[in-house]
Amino acid sequence: MQYQVTQELSLIHISQEELKKRLTPMQYQVTQELSLIHISQEELKKRLTPMQYQVTQERGTESAFTGEFTHHKDEGSYTCVVCGAVLFSSKTKFDSGSGWPSFYDLVKEESVALTDDFSYGMHRVETTCSQCGAHLGHLFDDGPKPTGKRYCINSASLGFQAKDAASTSGSASGAEGGAASSSVSDGKTEL
Ligand SMILES: [Zn+2]
Repeated sequence: MQYQVTQELSLIHISQEELKKRLTPMQYQVTQELSLIHISQEELKKRLTPMQYQVTQERGTESAFTGEFTHHKDEGSYTCVVCGAVLFSSKTKFDSGSGWPSFYDLVKEESVALTDDFSYGMHRVETTCSQCGAHLGHLFDDGPKPTGKRYCINSASLGFQAKDAASTSGSASGAEGGAASSSVSDGKTEL
């Protein structure tokens, strides 16, 4: 985990100051302002499996029931395989029977971008990672309550952080401090 966080994320970090020197204003605007993180395609071909590359960069789709996370039930967070952004929680994962990992909600509304997709003679809503633009899958309106949404996501677009390994992120609110609140109601000692 330490290696992944310190080394793999650092590979894709390019200083904005350097880019402003190297690129023309138009190049900078197009490549940087549409996506927060720009990752070279050459580097991605090395880092990702062929399937991960095809799905996230060429908007491919893995075959149903072949992905590693379709029937994955561990507790934790699903991340973008390209940039590591947290996208989905195991708490909102459900078995849709579609053959792809399915979620009825996002961890953060702004983490996934939605665009109309008219390919294959259908109108679908494509989902991409807001941070790096990786193709994730599609969003349908036939999911379970409470949202009614079904995020149908390729396993090849996802990484996974087990719940136990997530403690380094520092975002675990309430997990340790939750028990302390029960003593507050007994306020007699405060006189
Ligand atoms: Zn991403």
